[in-house]
Amino acid sequence: MTAQGEAKQGSASKWLNAELQYDSGVYNKHQVVMVRGQGATVWDEQGRSYIDCVAGYGVANIGHCHPDVVRAIKEQAEKLIVMPQTLPNDKRAEFLTELVSVLPQGLGRVFLCNSGTEAMEAAKKFAITATGRQRFVSMRRGFSGRTLGALAFTWEPKYREPFGDAVDNRNVDFITYGSVEELRAAVTDQTAAVILEPVQGEGGVRPASPEFIQEARRITRERGALLILDEIQTGFCRTGKMFACEHSGVIPDGMTLAKAMAGGVPVGAFAMTAEVADRMPGGGHGTTFGGNPLAMAAGVAAIRAMKREGMAEQAREKGAYFMERLRAIRSPKIREVRGLGLMIGVELKEKSAPYISALEHEEGVLALAATPLVVRFLPPVTISKEQIDQVVAAFERVLGSVNPREGRQAELAGVREEKQTE
Ligand SMILES: *Cc1c(COP(=O)(O)O)cnc(C)c1O
Repeated sequence: MTAQGEAKQGSASKWLNAELQYDSGVYNKHQVVMVRGQGATVWDEQGRSYIDCVAGYGVANIGHCHPDVVRAIKEQAEKLIVMPQTLPNDKRAEFLTELVSVLPQGLGRVFLCNSGTEAMEAAKKFAITATGRQRFVSMRRGFSGRTLGALAFTWEPKYREPFGDAVDNRNVDFITYGSVEELRAAVTDQTAAVILEPVQGEGGVRPASPEFIQEARRITRERGALLILDEIQTGFCRTGKMFACEHSGVIPDGMTLAKAMAGGVPVGAFAMTAEVADRMPGGGHGTTFGGNPLAMAAGVAAIRAMKREGMAEQAREKGAYFMERLRAIRSPKIREVRGLGLMIGVELKEKSAPYISALEHEEGVLALAATPLVVRFLPPVTISKEQIDQVVAAFERVLGSVNPREGRQAELAGVREEKQTE
């Protein structure tokens, strides 16, 4: 190794060691230090490039470091970074106007926060005050976030059980995702809201049928409950529409948003009807950082870029192409390829972790798990067809080369499915 190579190696392990030493330990760190990103490509400290089908867990929909977002952040940083929501701000007003213009008709009011789980907390509180009810219906395999309130809607027991009764989900009924019968039985005159992802992400990349979402709309309306769609992962062009609800034509009473909304900067929102918003008492909810001008500037630039560059259309076309190519792979290890737009899952007949690890280490492709059996691809919408071809070819190679019984690859990369999740 050259002296320069050694120096690079040395500094890489320095950063990695610092993370391993000081991080809380809840994440399984890969043996790599990422330093730069552009479009659908990221680079590690050694200068090695990766095609990024993780995209910050579905955040970088418009690509890493989109030039418009970069420029907006720079300009706003020199003007004003923080201003609480009691004090109106030009960028916040611009963002709200821009966001409401792309939301389904009727969702004209927005609570701004900083993450997906906070959006879900807001949804929960607004649903309670809007209906005067406290029961919820959530979905098996559903994922709603990690704070204690949102965790109550999250089905996977391993996320909840370490915290015992502090996760109070006595007022949550879980039903089978897609079962109209169970939904009909679960929604009563005590139900504040039905919470549902149009495509389950964490739960294995499972699109709901349009009919299920339409039935959920009908049943909730009949019984005076709200329909809240969790579009945190599906929103902002991921599924081939600006929002996944557009595939079924359903307009919910509330929608949780985050991830891709501001081109990579942390933002969350609960968008709702005026009827829902108006029932929350003044001061009933709030957050310090929500709606800060820096994030708002990034959000304005991101949403405008999505519209101008036809990102929804791109996701639809590229997603169809990506899935068609994946379905053409002849491998006895594949059980099913499914998804919507560029939210794609490949369910294997065995654990996905060794394949995800091999993709990273041998092929320079980043992918993520969704349940132990599924390889999930959430690339930036700006990914090129050539890059999709490269990902598919790489996936085909690792399907052929990885011997799952060895399982050593996964350990080396620190990819264990227990923690391979947002
Ligand atoms: C990521 C995600 C969340 C949680 O968002 P955070 O920003 O990680 O808190 C909630 N629901 C869904 C569907 C998600 O994909």
